[in-house]
Amino acid sequence: MDLAGKTALITGASRGIGAAAAQAFAQAGANVALVARHGDAVAELAGEIGGRAVAIPCDVSRYWEVEQAVENCLRAFGRLDILINNAGAIEPIAHLAEAEPEAWGHVIDVNLKGVFHGMRAVLPLMRAQGGGTILTIGSGAAHSPIEAWSHYCASKAGALMLTRMVHTEEASNGIRALSLSPGTVATQMQREIRASGINPVSRLDWSAHIPPEWVARALVWMCGPEADDYLGDEVSLRNEDIRKRVGLT
Ligand code: NAP
Repeated sequence: MDLAGKTALITGASRGIGAAAAQAFAQAGANVALVARHGDAVAELAGEIGGRAVAIPCDVSRYWEVEQAVENCLRAFGRLDILINNAGAIEPIAHLAEAEPEAWGHVIDVNLKGVFHGMRAVLPLMRAQGGGTILTIGSGAAHSPIEAWSHYCASKAGALMLTRMVHTEEASNGIRALSLSPGTVATQMQREIRASGINPVSRLDWSAHIPPEWVARALVWMCGPEADDYLGDEVSLRNEDIRKRVGLT
Protein backbone atom coordinates (compact mmCIF):
# COMPACT_ATOMS: atom_id res chain seq x y z
CA MET A 1 0.00 0.00 0.00
CA ASP A 2 1.42 3.37 -0.99
CA LEU A 3 0.19 6.10 1.34
CA ALA A 4 2.68 8.74 0.16
CA GLY A 5 1.19 12.23 0.46
CA LYS A 6 -1.47 11.05 2.92
CA THR A 7 -1.61 12.04 6.59
CA ALA A 8 -2.82 9.76 9.38
CA LEU A 9 -3.65 10.89 12.92
CA ILE A 10 -3.33 7.98 15.35
CA THR A 11 -4.68 8.20 18.91
CA GLY A 12 -3.12 6.08 21.65
CA ALA A 13 0.14 6.05 19.71
CA SER A 14 2.44 5.96 22.76
CA ARG A 15 2.59 2.14 22.91
CA GLY A 16 0.95 -1.12 21.82
CA ILE A 17 -1.26 -1.17 18.73
CA GLY A 18 -1.06 2.62 18.21
CA ALA A 19 2.74 2.69 18.24
CA ALA A 20 2.88 -0.26 15.81
CA ALA A 21 0.37 1.54 13.57
CA ALA A 22 2.54 4.67 13.63
CA GLN A 23 5.49 2.66 12.32
CA ALA A 24 3.40 0.82 9.71
CA PHE A 25 1.74 3.96 8.32
CA ALA A 26 5.08 5.79 8.20
CA GLN A 27 6.59 2.80 6.38
CA ALA A 28 3.73 2.96 3.87
CA GLY A 29 4.77 6.55 3.17
CA ALA A 30 2.19 8.48 5.20
CA ASN A 31 2.82 11.46 7.45
CA VAL A 32 1.82 10.48 10.98
CA ALA A 33 0.48 12.60 13.85
CA LEU A 34 0.99 10.67 17.08
CA VAL A 35 -1.50 11.43 19.84
CA ALA A 36 -1.43 10.23 23.47
CA ARG A 37 -1.39 11.70 26.97
CA HIS A 38 2.29 10.81 27.54
CA GLY A 39 3.95 13.45 25.38
CA ASP A 40 7.45 12.12 26.06
CA ALA A 41 6.56 8.64 24.76
CA VAL A 42 5.04 9.93 21.50
CA ALA A 43 7.90 12.41 21.08
CA GLU A 44 10.41 9.56 21.35
CA LEU A 45 8.53 7.50 18.76
CA ALA A 46 8.19 10.51 16.44
CA GLY A 47 11.96 11.01 16.77
CA GLU A 48 12.57 7.38 15.75
CA ILE A 49 10.26 7.68 12.73
CA GLY A 50 11.80 10.97 11.58
CA GLY A 51 10.60 14.02 9.66
CA ARG A 52 7.22 12.63 8.64
CA ALA A 53 6.03 12.26 12.26
CA VAL A 54 4.83 14.76 14.86
CA ALA A 55 3.97 14.11 18.49
CA ILE A 56 0.85 15.73 19.91
CA PRO A 57 0.09 15.32 23.63
CA CYS A 58 -3.68 15.03 24.03
CA ASP A 59 -6.30 13.40 26.22
CA VAL A 60 -9.04 12.13 23.89
CA SER A 61 -11.65 12.32 26.64
CA ARG A 62 -11.53 16.13 26.30
CA TYR A 63 -13.04 17.41 23.06
CA TRP A 64 -11.13 20.69 23.07
CA GLU A 65 -7.82 18.80 23.23
CA VAL A 66 -8.80 16.59 20.28
CA GLU A 67 -9.85 19.65 18.27
CA GLN A 68 -6.48 21.24 19.06
CA ALA A 69 -4.64 18.02 18.08
CA VAL A 70 -6.37 18.05 14.69
CA GLU A 71 -5.39 21.71 14.23
CA ASN A 72 -1.77 20.88 15.12
CA CYS A 73 -1.80 18.03 12.61
CA LEU A 74 -3.08 20.38 9.89
CA ARG A 75 -0.43 22.94 10.82
CA ALA A 76 2.28 20.27 10.44
CA PHE A 77 1.12 18.50 7.30
CA GLY A 78 -1.62 20.65 5.71
CA ARG A 79 -4.17 17.83 5.54
CA LEU A 80 -5.64 14.84 7.37
CA ASP A 81 -6.76 11.83 5.34
CA ILE A 82 -6.93 9.03 7.91
CA LEU A 83 -8.07 9.04 11.54
CA ILE A 84 -7.28 5.99 13.64
CA ASN A 85 -9.37 5.96 16.83
CA ASN A 86 -7.19 3.59 18.83
CA ALA A 87 -6.81 5.13 22.32
CA GLY A 88 -8.48 2.91 24.87
CA ALA A 89 -8.57 1.81 28.49
CA ILE A 90 -9.90 -1.20 30.40
CA GLU A 91 -9.03 -0.43 34.02
CA PRO A 92 -10.68 -0.49 36.52
CA ILE A 93 -11.89 -4.03 35.84
CA ALA A 94 -14.77 -4.69 38.27
CA HIS A 95 -18.14 -6.38 38.62
CA LEU A 96 -21.13 -4.07 38.07
CA ALA A 97 -22.18 -4.34 41.74
CA GLU A 98 -18.83 -2.98 42.94
CA ALA A 99 -17.77 -0.68 40.08
CA GLU A 100 -16.79 2.83 41.18
CA PRO A 101 -19.13 5.07 39.13
CA GLU A 102 -16.65 7.84 38.31
CA ALA A 103 -13.93 5.43 37.18
CA TRP A 104 -16.51 3.42 35.16
CA GLY A 105 -17.53 6.63 33.45
CA HIS A 106 -13.94 7.55 32.65
CA VAL A 107 -13.58 4.42 30.49
CA ILE A 108 -16.71 5.52 28.60
CA ASP A 109 -15.17 9.00 28.25
CA VAL A 110 -12.05 7.53 26.61
CA ASN A 111 -13.34 4.52 24.65
CA LEU A 112 -16.68 5.92 23.47
CA LYS A 113 -16.65 9.71 23.80
CA GLY A 114 -13.00 9.75 22.69
CA VAL A 115 -14.05 8.02 19.45
CA PHE A 116 -16.90 10.50 18.96
CA HIS A 117 -14.50 13.40 19.67
CA GLY A 118 -12.13 12.18 16.95
CA MET A 119 -14.94 11.71 14.43
CA ARG A 120 -16.54 15.07 15.26
CA ALA A 121 -13.24 16.92 14.95
CA VAL A 122 -12.24 15.47 11.56
CA LEU A 123 -15.56 15.10 9.71
CA PRO A 124 -15.94 18.76 8.63
CA LEU A 125 -12.44 18.85 7.18
CA MET A 126 -12.77 15.43 5.53
CA ARG A 127 -16.01 16.64 3.95
CA ALA A 128 -14.24 19.77 2.71
CA GLN A 129 -11.37 17.64 1.33
CA GLY A 130 -13.85 15.41 -0.49
CA GLY A 131 -13.27 12.29 1.59
CA GLY A 132 -11.20 10.42 4.13
CA THR A 133 -10.97 7.22 6.15
CA ILE A 134 -11.93 6.77 9.81
CA LEU A 135 -10.76 3.51 11.39
CA THR A 136 -11.76 2.61 14.95
CA ILE A 137 -10.32 -0.22 17.00
CA GLY A 138 -13.24 -2.32 18.10
CA SER A 139 -13.41 -5.57 20.03
CA GLY A 140 -15.28 -8.83 20.32
CA ALA A 141 -16.45 -7.21 23.59
CA ALA A 142 -18.83 -5.10 21.47
CA HIS A 143 -20.90 -8.24 20.86
CA SER A 144 -20.48 -10.42 23.97
CA PRO A 145 -20.78 -9.66 27.68
CA ILE A 146 -17.50 -10.47 29.43
CA GLU A 147 -17.45 -10.71 33.22
CA ALA A 148 -16.24 -7.53 34.99
CA TRP A 149 -15.91 -5.61 31.72
CA SER A 150 -19.31 -3.83 31.66
CA HIS A 151 -17.67 -0.44 30.98
CA TYR A 152 -15.46 -1.87 28.23
CA CYS A 153 -18.20 -3.95 26.54
CA ALA A 154 -20.65 -1.02 26.63
CA SER A 155 -18.03 1.39 25.24
CA LYS A 156 -17.00 -0.91 22.39
CA ALA A 157 -20.64 -1.63 21.46
CA GLY A 158 -21.23 2.13 21.33
CA ALA A 159 -18.06 2.77 19.33
CA LEU A 160 -19.14 0.19 16.72
CA MET A 161 -22.44 2.03 16.39
CA LEU A 162 -20.53 5.28 15.83
CA THR A 163 -18.70 3.66 12.89
CA ARG A 164 -22.08 2.60 11.48
CA MET A 165 -23.40 6.14 12.02
CA VAL A 166 -20.49 7.75 10.16
CA HIS A 167 -21.08 5.35 7.27
CA THR A 168 -24.81 6.14 7.23
CA GLU A 169 -24.33 9.89 7.31
CA GLU A 170 -21.05 10.43 5.47
CA ALA A 171 -20.44 7.65 2.91
CA SER A 172 -22.04 9.88 0.28
CA ASN A 173 -19.36 12.48 1.09
CA GLY A 174 -16.57 10.01 0.30
CA ILE A 175 -15.85 9.21 3.95
CA ARG A 176 -14.97 5.58 4.65
CA ALA A 177 -15.63 4.30 8.19
CA LEU A 178 -14.60 0.85 9.38
CA SER A 179 -14.05 -0.89 12.72
CA LEU A 180 -11.28 -3.40 13.38
CA SER A 181 -11.81 -6.17 15.92
CA PRO A 182 -8.28 -7.50 16.42
CA GLY A 183 -8.83 -10.51 18.73
CA THR A 184 -6.38 -10.48 21.64
CA VAL A 185 -3.12 -8.60 21.19
CA ALA A 186 0.12 -8.76 23.19
CA THR A 187 0.12 -5.26 24.72
CA GLN A 188 0.03 -3.49 28.09
CA MET A 189 -3.77 -3.82 28.04
CA GLN A 190 -3.52 -7.63 28.03
CA ARG A 191 -1.02 -7.40 30.92
CA GLU A 192 -3.64 -5.47 32.91
CA ILE A 193 -6.30 -8.04 31.96
CA ARG A 194 -4.03 -10.90 33.01
CA ALA A 195 -3.26 -9.22 36.36
CA SER A 196 -7.00 -9.01 37.13
CA GLY A 197 -7.34 -12.83 36.98
CA ILE A 198 -11.08 -12.27 36.85
CA ASN A 199 -12.42 -13.88 33.68
CA PRO A 200 -11.40 -16.42 31.01
CA VAL A 201 -9.59 -13.77 28.90
CA SER A 202 -7.28 -13.08 31.85
CA ARG A 203 -6.31 -16.75 31.91
CA LEU A 204 -5.33 -17.04 28.23
CA ASP A 205 -1.81 -18.18 27.55
CA TRP A 206 0.34 -15.23 26.38
CA SER A 207 1.03 -17.14 23.14
CA ALA A 208 -2.69 -16.82 22.25
CA HIS A 209 -2.21 -13.09 21.63
CA ILE A 210 -1.24 -11.75 18.20
CA PRO A 211 1.53 -9.14 17.89
CA PRO A 212 0.47 -5.48 17.54
CA GLU A 213 2.31 -5.37 14.20
CA TRP A 214 -0.38 -7.64 12.68
CA VAL A 215 -3.07 -5.22 13.75
CA ALA A 216 -1.06 -2.36 12.25
CA ARG A 217 -0.82 -4.18 8.92
CA ALA A 218 -4.56 -4.75 8.92
CA LEU A 219 -5.14 -1.02 9.54
CA VAL A 220 -2.97 -0.11 6.55
CA TRP A 221 -4.87 -2.66 4.42
CA MET A 222 -8.17 -1.11 5.53
CA CYS A 223 -7.14 2.16 3.85
CA GLY A 224 -7.24 0.49 0.43
CA PRO A 225 -10.15 -0.39 -1.86
CA GLU A 226 -9.91 -4.13 -1.02
CA ALA A 227 -11.48 -3.33 2.36
CA ASP A 228 -14.44 -1.51 0.80
CA ASP A 229 -16.55 -4.68 1.23
CA TYR A 230 -16.53 -3.83 4.96
CA LEU A 231 -17.47 -0.14 4.85
CA GLY A 232 -19.68 0.78 7.80
CA ASP A 233 -18.91 -2.56 9.37
CA GLU A 234 -16.35 -4.54 11.32
CA VAL A 235 -13.25 -6.30 10.05
CA SER A 236 -12.40 -9.19 12.39
CA LEU A 237 -8.84 -10.47 12.57
CA ARG A 238 -10.16 -13.72 14.03
CA ASN A 239 -11.51 -14.42 10.54
CA GLU A 240 -9.03 -16.57 8.60
CA ASP A 241 -10.22 -15.21 5.27
CA ILE A 242 -9.49 -11.65 6.39
CA ARG A 243 -6.07 -12.67 7.73
CA LYS A 244 -5.31 -14.09 4.28
CA ARG A 245 -6.53 -10.96 2.53
CA VAL A 246 -4.35 -8.81 4.81
CA GLY A 247 -1.39 -11.11 4.12
CA LEU A 248 -0.97 -12.38 7.69
CA THR A 249 -0.98 -16.09 6.90
P1 NAP B 1 -2.30 -0.19 25.45
O1 NAP B 1 -0.97 -0.76 25.14
O2 NAP B 1 -2.73 -0.11 26.85
O3 NAP B 1 -2.35 1.27 24.76
C1 NAP B 1 -3.41 2.14 25.00
C2 NAP B 1 -3.07 3.47 24.35
O4 NAP B 1 -4.15 4.38 24.57
C3 NAP B 1 -1.82 4.10 24.93
O5 NAP B 1 -1.05 4.67 23.89
C4 NAP B 1 -2.37 5.19 25.84
O6 NAP B 1 -1.44 6.28 25.87
C5 NAP B 1 -3.63 5.59 25.07
N1 NAP B 1 -4.61 6.26 25.91
C6 NAP B 1 -5.26 5.78 26.99
N2 NAP B 1 -6.09 6.71 27.49
C7 NAP B 1 -5.96 7.80 26.69
C8 NAP B 1 -6.55 9.09 26.68
N3 NAP B 1 -7.44 9.46 27.62
N4 NAP B 1 -6.20 9.96 25.70
C9 NAP B 1 -5.28 9.62 24.76
N5 NAP B 1 -4.70 8.41 24.71
C10 NAP B 1 -5.03 7.52 25.68
O7 NAP B 1 -3.45 -0.99 24.73
P2 NAP B 1 -3.63 -1.59 23.25
O8 NAP B 1 -3.88 -3.04 23.42
O9 NAP B 1 -2.58 -1.11 22.32
O10 NAP B 1 -5.05 -0.93 22.91
C11 NAP B 1 -5.29 -0.12 21.78
C12 NAP B 1 -6.75 -0.27 21.38
O11 NAP B 1 -7.00 -1.61 21.00
C13 NAP B 1 -7.75 0.04 22.49
O12 NAP B 1 -8.85 0.75 21.96
C14 NAP B 1 -8.19 -1.33 22.96
O13 NAP B 1 -9.47 -1.31 23.54
C15 NAP B 1 -8.16 -2.07 21.63
N6 NAP B 1 -8.12 -3.54 21.76
C16 NAP B 1 -7.05 -4.15 22.35
C17 NAP B 1 -7.04 -5.53 22.44
C18 NAP B 1 -5.90 -6.28 23.09
O14 NAP B 1 -6.01 -7.52 23.25
N7 NAP B 1 -4.79 -5.63 23.45
C19 NAP B 1 -8.11 -6.29 21.93
C20 NAP B 1 -9.18 -5.63 21.33
C21 NAP B 1 -9.16 -4.25 21.24
P3 NAP B 1 -1.22 7.27 27.11
O15 NAP B 1 -1.29 6.45 28.35
O16 NAP B 1 0.12 7.87 26.81
O17 NAP B 1 -2.33 8.27 26.98
